[in-house]
Amino acid sequence: MDLGIAGRWALVCAASKGLGKGCAQALVREGVNVVITARGREALEAAAAELGALNPQVQVRAVAGDITTAEGRAAALAAAPQVDILVNNAGGPPAGDFRDWDREAWIRALDANMLTPIELMKATVDGMAARGFGRVVNITSGAVKAPLETLGLSNGARTGLTGFVAGLARQPRLAGRNVTINNLLPGPFETDRLRVTTAAAAQRSGESFDAIWDRRRQANPSQRYGTAAEFGAACAFLCSVHAGYMTGQNVLLDGGAFPGTF
Ligand code: NAP
Repeated sequence: MDLGIAGRWALVCAASKGLGKGCAQALVREGVNVVITARGREALEAAAAELGALNPQVQVRAVAGDITTAEGRAAALAAAPQVDILVNNAGGPPAGDFRDWDREAWIRALDANMLTPIELMKATVDGMAARGFGRVVNITSGAVKAPLETLGLSNGARTGLTGFVAGLARQPRLAGRNVTINNLLPGPFETDRLRVTTAAAAQRSGESFDAIWDRRRQANPSQRYGTAAEFGAACAFLCSVHAGYMTGQNVLLDGGAFPGTF
């Protein structure tokens, strides 16, 4: 299927590895020019080189910086001539017990997983509407539908974003101008983030990393973890011309882990 987005410009945040990189790869394969960001310059430049090699027709720009800061966002936005596609992403907050989190911990989580995506949408969606095409995909978490006890910072911040997006996406001045905003909810995907949260669980419980890793894999109906390539393909579809009638949705990619009918 031709996704109809070749030549568009995408800003893919937090994309030197993991799910963000998977999204950038899928978009680049479709001929989309990308600006990718991450804090670590070395891994970011390696990712940019890989993306360039995937499709020599596209432009790939790498902007090192912290997307949760105003300077990081300004630099990322300035690198693209226009943003037709915005993929919001940042690192997830740490696991733990809410009794240990102070105001600063909450503000960091809100900045990364709620306020930064809102700021970037604020900077881009009206321009998208004026041009008559725009796609926003927010990478959130399956924890929005089924909260994970130890990830309270993530549960709280991402659910705030989800509520905000539910209202924004339905504004006729966006939806009526071919601007869609959807959230992609990852269940367990085999990335560094999953390794970090598994290592934290191992430390808390005293069980080995491998035992937890295998048990969680087997507990998933698909009997495996998801891949960044699968995640990226779903993201690229949401960014395609074919997904123009789909907005304000929360799309779960979890191998069937969520046990509900809907
Ligand atoms: P990952 O493999 O750890 O990759 C995270 C990427 O984000 C890296 O490129 C990292 O590079 C970049 N990054 C982190 N903080 C950043 C910041 N402040 N500014 C710019 N770039 C930043 O993580 P992932 O598994 O792809 O997860 C992506 C998101 O999905 C996270 O929010 C995670 O919590 C959520 N999620 C993941 C899973 C899963 O199973 N993998 C499940 C549910 C939710 P630098 O460190 O160099 O900045």
